[in-house]
Amino acid sequence: MDQSFKKQKVFTSEEEKTLKWDQIQLSFKKAFGNEVYNSWLQKISLLKEYNDYLVLGVPTRFFRDWIVSRYLDKILEEVKIFKLSLNRIEFKIIEENKQNQEIVKIDEISKVTEIKDSILNYNRLNPNLNFLNFVKGKSNDIALSYSKRVCEDISRYNPLYVCGGVGLGKTHLLNAIGLELQDNNNVMFISAERFMYHFIKSIKKNDMVNFKDFFRKSSVFIIDDIQFISGKESLQEEFFHTFNSLMDKGSQIVISSDRSPMKLDKVQDRIKSRLAGGLVVDIDAPDLELKIKIIKKKIEEIQTQFKESINLNDDVINYIAKESKTSVRELIGILNRVIAFGRVHNRTLNINDCKNILKDVFNQIKVITVDKIQNVVANYFNISLQDMLSQRRSRPLARPRQIAMFLAKKMTSRSLPEIGRRFANRDHTTVIHAVKTINRLSDQDDEMKKNINQIKSLLLEQ
Ligand code: ADP
Ligand code: MG
Repeated sequence: MDQSFKKQKVFTSEEEKTLKWDQIQLSFKKAFGNEVYNSWLQKISLLKEYNDYLVLGVPTRFFRDWIVSRYLDKILEEVKIFKLSLNRIEFKIIEENKQNQEIVKIDEISKVTEIKDSILNYNRLNPNLNFLNFVKGKSNDIALSYSKRVCEDISRYNPLYVCGGVGLGKTHLLNAIGLELQDNNNVMFISAERFMYHFIKSIKKNDMVNFKDFFRKSSVFIIDDIQFISGKESLQEEFFHTFNSLMDKGSQIVISSDRSPMKLDKVQDRIKSRLAGGLVVDIDAPDLELKIKIIKKKIEEIQTQFKESINLNDDVINYIAKESKTSVRELIGILNRVIAFGRVHNRTLNINDCKNILKDVFNQIKVITVDKIQNVVANYFNISLQDMLSQRRSRPLARPRQIAMFLAKKMTSRSLPEIGRRFANRDHTTVIHAVKTINRLSDQDDEMKKNINQIKSLLLEQ
């Protein structure tokens, strides 16, 4: 199984719910104000939690559309404060009076139903990702200007292929193109992952004719994260035909990927050269100047949208910009944390506060690994790593093992199966059991709570 497939997690198994939904609801109330909260957000329930996405329940289709068009970004940001690894939210419509029953029953519903009801990434444009709020800088200037030109002069640059690392603004640009063109064109905006989902579904239902019609009737076809087709032969075949037929009828095609066409792994050569045949533009990592501009823009957006004043002085802004190294997504994540911290403590923050917050963020994002957790825990309990990972079940070994699994779940973004594998190939259900046990014990037992906190601070210090 290749990397991109794993990352996208189409048919992933559910993981244990670790989020405290009532706490998140509280933060919604603070962030959105009573009025919006009472009319909308309060009615959202948490149905399923996965490593990088959530399935939330809403009462009606209208309700869902309303929330998605107005509050989705902000909801995502708020939940991210509690769950760093989150990168998308899906909604499922459940009738209000059935909500409780539905939660119980949902495990029996096949994964396919869930995907059918989900709406993100599937031809829904996010109104908040437009050209106006895409901040221009040296690293994205060319990609931005050609994205705009495509909108003025359809099929002049065909396909337009936008490439760049994770979190640098590809989806934002593609979405902006879709928004700009949707009034006068039949715009199709889909991720390669979802394209595959529809493809498989149509094969199963023996309905390829509809599938072909559906995608080939668009006059603007925007496909996100094309690297996903890597290694999937029949999908590539279908994509190739769709691509050619769209090109033949003069439709504009826009594509994004984490790498340039020729560097796509396990993709047929004829497809690569087709993809490279139009215009390829890059987005690079942002420089300091752009990061600062983005922070200021985001602050401005939050202030106008939520009528809330945010006091971050230039020193703090510079500090955040300098410290965030990997992507715009990370930058925004950090900014949100800082803003949330300021809200909770209700005061203007200084650089020292930021240092502490960032220490936490970076430790969680980067430095803390499963290996490190295992070493620190084994050391703490004075047992050897080998014993801790062994199959022996005596309590002096089993407890530390469970604590290490629990911390691995809490402090890294690894999924349960991945954690299981790193503990001498244990099953993910063992990890779930460990997380539950330690959660329960640390609620009941002060000694356990103290141990966990000490280990956590050891991990954060290093
Ligand atoms: P990618 O698709 O390349 O992984 P996204 O388009 O999802 O990245 O961008 C990640 C986040 O950063 C999004 O919230 C997006 O709005 C924001 N972002 C990226 N670049 C910019 C920019 N130049 N100006 C404003 N926001 C940006
Ligand atoms: Mg993207």
